[in-house]
Amino acid sequence: MIYLDHAATSPPRREVLEAVWPYLTSVTGNPSSAHEAGRAAKAGLDAARAGIAQVLGCRPGEVVLTGGGTEADNLAVTGIATASPRGRHVVVSAIEHPAVLETARALARAGFRVEEAGVDEFGVVDLEQLERLVGDGTALVSVMLANNEIGTVQPLAEVSRVCRAHGVPLHTDAVQAAGHLPLDVDALGVDALSVSAHKFGGLRGSGALFVRGPVPLEPVLHGGGQEQGRRSGTVDVAGAVGTAVALGLAEAAREEESARLRALRDRLIGGVLAEVPGARLTGHPVQRLPHHASFCFPGVGGETVLLELEAVGVVCSSGSACSAGSEDASHVLLATGLDADTARTAVRFSMGPATTGQDVDEVLRLLPLAVRAASGA
Ligand code: PLP
Repeated sequence: MIYLDHAATSPPRREVLEAVWPYLTSVTGNPSSAHEAGRAAKAGLDAARAGIAQVLGCRPGEVVLTGGGTEADNLAVTGIATASPRGRHVVVSAIEHPAVLETARALARAGFRVEEAGVDEFGVVDLEQLERLVGDGTALVSVMLANNEIGTVQPLAEVSRVCRAHGVPLHTDAVQAAGHLPLDVDALGVDALSVSAHKFGGLRGSGALFVRGPVPLEPVLHGGGQEQGRRSGTVDVAGAVGTAVALGLAEAAREEESARLRALRDRLIGGVLAEVPGARLTGHPVQRLPHHASFCFPGVGGETVLLELEAVGVVCSSGSACSAGSEDASHVLLATGLDADTARTAVRFSMGPATTGQDVDEVLRLLPLAVRAASGA
C-alpha cells in the first residue's frame, strides 16, 4: 500500500513508541501526586513540556497540554475571546478547520460578533479585508498557519502586523504546519498556537496550545486546576512525552526532510497536471506545505477516484478527513471561488517520512487510469 494521507494522520514513530512505553508500564503515577511515583511522572512531564517549548521558542509555562488539536483550538478561541477585556468581536479566516470555525460559530450563538475574512483563488487570506475587520473591540483573530485541504501557507507575519497594530491577540492553528514549517512563536508573531501530535508522528489524542504569558485565558474544562488552572483533568504524561519526542525529531530533520518532500511534491504536481486531462491544482502553487498536493478533476467525483486508487493500493483523501463522506462541498474550496460541483471532485495527496520517489512514480502511473475509470470513460 502507498499511504499518502499523512495530513489525516501519520503513524507514530518507532522512537515515540519506545519513549512512551515506560510511561505506560512503570512510571505510571499521577503527576499531581506528591509521592515518589507521582514525582517520577512529573519529571517526565516537565521534560516533555520543556521539549515542546524549545521547538516553539517559548517558556515551558506557556505550553498547555491538551487532548489533541481540536481541543487546543477550542481552548484558544473560546478561552481567549471569553477572557478578553477588549470586546466581543472575533475574526477568523473563512478557510479555518472546523475546530476553529465551529468554535467561533458557537461563540456567535453566545452573543459574540464573528466575522470571516475571505481568501483569494489560492487560499491566501485577504489582508486588506482583515485590516478593515480588525478594530479596538476585537478580542481575537485566528488565522491558520497552513490549510489542511489545499496546503496553502498563510502570510502570518503580515497577519501579525495587522493584529499588533491594533493590540489584538493572534491565534494560529499550526496543526498541519507542525513538523513541516518553523514554529517559533516570536518569529511568527503569534500569541497562541495549536499543534496536534498525530500529524507529526506522535500519538492521536495528544496536543498542545501555546498561550503567551500575559494573554488572559478562560479555561474550557473546569475541574482540579491542572495545567495552572488552564486545562483541568489528569495530564496524559505518556501522550505529552510522545508529543515532545515526535516534535523534537521532526524539528531536527525538518529542513532536510522538507526539501526532500518538496521535490517529491513538485514532481507529483507537475506529473498530474501533465498526465491527467483537465486536472487543476488547488491551493497555492508555491506557498504550500512541502508534503501536500491537492487537485480537482472537474467532472469526476473525488470519492470515486479515491475508491479506484484504493483498489490498486494507493490511499489518499477526498479533501479533509473530517468532511469526508459529507454531502456538502468543502467550505475551503468554495471560499477560493470554485463552484460546488468542481469542489466535490477534490483529491488530496499528503506525503510522509516513508514516502519515496518510487511511490510518486507509481501514483503518476495509476492516477490517470483511476481518473479515466472514475469518469466512466
Ligand atoms: N486543525 C487542522 C488544520 C487539522 O487539520 C486538524 C485535523 O485534521 C485539526 C485542527 C484537529 O486536530 P485533532 O485531530 O488532533 O483534533
